[in-house]
Amino acid sequence: MLTIDGSKGEGGGQVLRTALALALVTRTPLRMVNIRAGREKPGLLRQHLTAVKAAEAVGAAEVSGAELGSRELTFEPRALAAGNYHFAVGSAGSATLVLQTVLPALLLAEGPSSLRLEGGTHNPAAPPFDFLAKAFLPLVQRMGPRVEATLERPGFFPAGGGRFRVDVHPAKLQPLDLPERGRVVRRAAVATVSGIPYDVARRELDTVGDILKLRPDELHPDELKRGIGPGNVLRVEVECEHVTEVFTAFGSRGRAAEHVAEEVAREAKQYLDAEVPVGEHLCDQLLLLLALARGGSFRTLPLDGHARTQIDTMAHFLDVKVSTREVSRGVHEVEVRG
Ligand code: AMP
Repeated sequence: MLTIDGSKGEGGGQVLRTALALALVTRTPLRMVNIRAGREKPGLLRQHLTAVKAAEAVGAAEVSGAELGSRELTFEPRALAAGNYHFAVGSAGSATLVLQTVLPALLLAEGPSSLRLEGGTHNPAAPPFDFLAKAFLPLVQRMGPRVEATLERPGFFPAGGGRFRVDVHPAKLQPLDLPERGRVVRRAAVATVSGIPYDVARRELDTVGDILKLRPDELHPDELKRGIGPGNVLRVEVECEHVTEVFTAFGSRGRAAEHVAEEVAREAKQYLDAEVPVGEHLCDQLLLLLALARGGSFRTLPLDGHARTQIDTMAHFLDVKVSTREVSRGVHEVEVRG
């Protein structure tokens, strides 16, 4: 049984999710210790427990230690079953991170799958639904499989209650090379408010528009009604010829709209100035796909802790070589070869 120490590298949920995803794909019995030891509340939170349960169902796995707060887990997958699944986090915990855990296996399964996921769809420190739908999944599709994601109802922290569907049609994953992003063909800033004054959206858009020099027709307020819990998300979408990136910042009580806007503008500006195709978050998520395809490359910003941890975790399961080099100031090339 392979033992993975969850305190290594980033020391968060990503080590757990990637280890589960790759244990499923490679049918490797796994023992995980020190789960999320680097986080303030270590062990399995509801969101991680849902990810474990999801992986258990998809892999018909034998599991021990799947309890709230657990810091140790064994996971022995027996088979990989495509099918219809319903995974509910049961809190505002991120449902997109539950998807991140099982999607790699379902992309490579024998037949199609249909998933209904419930929980948070727009959470800090997790891929927001719009990032999934517009940045990540189109790249998955370019590699072969067909994946459609539909948002049925957004869910924000702390109320949760979001819902989305994902339909997966597997295909062999082909390597992907993304050396450049091409021309910027569309930019948009979208300020979503739910149960929050509309003025917050306006102020966010004014500020992000000023910093990024966006035109008025590139600024979109999005006021949700329908009694969804309070929430405020500001995103900047940058669509280029070869890739789309989505940057997100979250409003919270006592945080000025202008600060939310400055945060997302800073991230988008760093990406735009570096002229790379792949931003910080897309980097760690794309790395796993390229490793499964056993090949590919892309240019990105300096690698963060999540990307480094992803590379280290993958090395336990897959015989792939990942090389990184700085090709010019602040621009890094990542190459994966199987
Ligand atoms: P962890 O912090 O270990 O639970 O991992 C968080 C995961 O969510 C990583 O795969 C990040 O790349 C991803 N993530 C966090 N924030 C964003 C964001 N704003 N957009 C897209 N992905 C994100």
